[in-house]
Order: sequence, then C-alpha cells, then structure tokens
Amino acid sequence: MIVDKLGRRFRNLRVSLTAACNFACTYCVPDGKRLMKAQNELPGSDLLKAVTCLQQASGIDKLRITGGEPLVSTKFDEFLLGVMQLPLDDVSLTTNGQLLLQKSAVIRESGIRRLNISLDSLNPLRFKQLARGGNLNTVLAGIDAMLAFGIKLKINMVPLRNQNAGDVLPMLEYCLERGIELRFIELMRMGHMLHSNSFQAEFMSMASLLDVIGTSYEFERTDAPYDSTAARFRIPGKGVFGIIANESEPFCHSCTRLRLSSDGYLYGCLSSARRQYIGDLLQLPLYQMLPKLQGRLIDALGDKKEAFQGETTVMKLIGG
Ligand code: SAM
Ligand code: SF4
Repeated sequence: MIVDKLGRRFRNLRVSLTAACNFACTYCVPDGKRLMKAQNELPGSDLLKAVTCLQQASGIDKLRITGGEPLVSTKFDEFLLGVMQLPLDDVSLTTNGQLLLQKSAVIRESGIRRLNISLDSLNPLRFKQLARGGNLNTVLAGIDAMLAFGIKLKINMVPLRNQNAGDVLPMLEYCLERGIELRFIELMRMGHMLHSNSFQAEFMSMASLLDVIGTSYEFERTDAPYDSTAARFRIPGKGVFGIIANESEPFCHSCTRLRLSSDGYLYGCLSSARRQYIGDLLQLPLYQMLPKLQGRLIDALGDKKEAFQGETTVMKLIGG
C-alpha cells in the first residue's frame, strides 16, 4: 500500500466525466465564460478501465462521479452502470441537478444509493444569478424524484456573504423537512477565486455560519468519520447538517482523496497544480501497466500538500 509520511493513502477517487457544464456558477466560473469540454477527454471505456486499475493499484474503495457536470456527458450512462458493477464500498454522484429528471431511469436502474446535489438558493432570481444557467423548479423536481426512489441525498451549498447568506436558514429548513443532509461548503480559493477580491468579500466562515444557524436552531457537534471533510452538527429531533470548513478547520492531515480528470490526469491535491498523466498507460497489458500506474500514484501522493493554500486549478476540471 502506498502511504505518505503523514500516514495518508488514497481511498476516495473522484472522477470528472467531462469539464463541460450547463451552469456557470459565480464561484466556479469567471464572468463571461462557459465551461467547455477539455481537449482530449478520454472515452467512457478508458475512464472505466482507469477506475478498475486504480482500484487494483492503490486500494481505492470509494468513488464519486463528478465534473464539470457529469449528467451532460454522453459517457454518463455507460460509466455509471459500469462502476456500479465494480467491487467498491461506495459509489456516489455530485450533480447540479438540472438533468436529474432526464437521467432518472438510468440512475434508478444503476442502483446507486447516494447523490450530492449542489443548490445555492431556493429563490428563483438568486438561483439564476448564482448558477447563471438552469431552472430552479426543474432541479427541485429532480430532487423530489430522487427522494421518491429512496436515494439518500445531501445538498451542497456554497454560502456567499453578499449573495445567498439570506438563503442559509430557508435551505436548512427545506433539507431538514425532507431528511436531506445540508452541507455548507466554505468558499475555496480555487481557480479565479485565488486572486480575486471577491474571495475576501464573499467568504463566510464556519463560525459566522453557525451564528446564523444559532438564531433559529439549537445544535450540537456530532461525530464524523476519520477521513470525512465535513464537521457535522445535530439539531435534536430534526436532523443533521455539515460544514466543509476548508479554511476554518483544514482537513489536509487526513485527506484520502485522489482525483482523475476527464482528460486522464491524476491530481493528488486540490491545492497543487501538479498532475500525473495516465491516459498513455491504459492500453498496456495489465502486467506492464500496474507497476507504471503505481509509480504515478506515488508521484500523485507526493503532490499532496500539508496545508491548503488554494490553487489556480479550476474546480470544474477536477470535480471539487
Ligand atoms: N457540477 C457538479 C456540481 O456542481 O455539483 C459537480 C462539479 S462541482 C465543481 C462540485 C462542487 O464543487 C459543487 O458542490 C460546487 O459547489 C463546488 N465548488 C465549485 N467551486 C467552488 C469554490 N470556489 N469553493 C467551494 N466550492 C466550490
Ligand atoms: Fe458547473 Fe458545478 Fe461548477 Fe456550478 S459548480 S459551474 S454546476 S461545475
């Protein structure tokens, strides 16, 4: 097993199916830009093969399908059905929810048990201003459809001081009523946010979020799994919410994440632009490929930083 000097190893793999997206969220995409496919994206069969081999080479046991927006990718059906056949402990999907209704048949057929849906506001105007694409009612109908299938949902919200801070309590109420775990993600200094003044202006810390929540709810801190990135809180009798407090409570010391981009690069760390290409290995016979893949995994683990500093890498390339 490949382990670094902090005892970290890869367990969680995030695969970005495509860098393209039908939204252009303000914190993810610079003004005036839309997300396009990366050049030389790998076909679904190669991405599936990469997952199988990474599992053999490094003991990955959890997989998250992400993007860009994974549901806009023509690879989505094949990839989802394929990974559900692999001996993984857990498969989940992160989506902006816009195409959930369209993809509901394959999602149901796949047997996937967990989805994370990103949603930053329940107010149609603010939703449009933040997502710069999509339709709130369609996303909400998709959420209802997934709940009706009995799929366990988490909703990811990035709270921004001057944009959707007023949505924190309505979002929490909406999620608690439906048995959905709401996860607030502290704004990260990624991509155009790294050198933007709006990071300081918009950043809401865990403490300020808890202050807002404390005006309406009593809560207590509860346990989170060892390699979980979220601090979790219980509202007695109502449910649980989480905060991914990248700045307030960094979790680099226990990070088990590995990311595979749609164009075949391994990223060992969100906070490093260093990446290892594996697209060239996928056609080799297994006995030649596995030792080479292990070498690239060692390099990717070596790319992990000890503290999060932000990076110019764009989240849509590596899937958040
Ligand atoms: N398109 C899908 C979605 O939005 O769920 C999957 C990809 S998206 C890059 C994954 C997650 O990253 C989303 O929950 C999004 O809110 C989050 N994200 C993107 N940019 C971020 C930033 N600068 N800070 C914090 N979270 C960010
Ligand atoms: Fe697209 Fe997700 Fe980025 Fe929003 S956060 S622009 S939905 S990739």
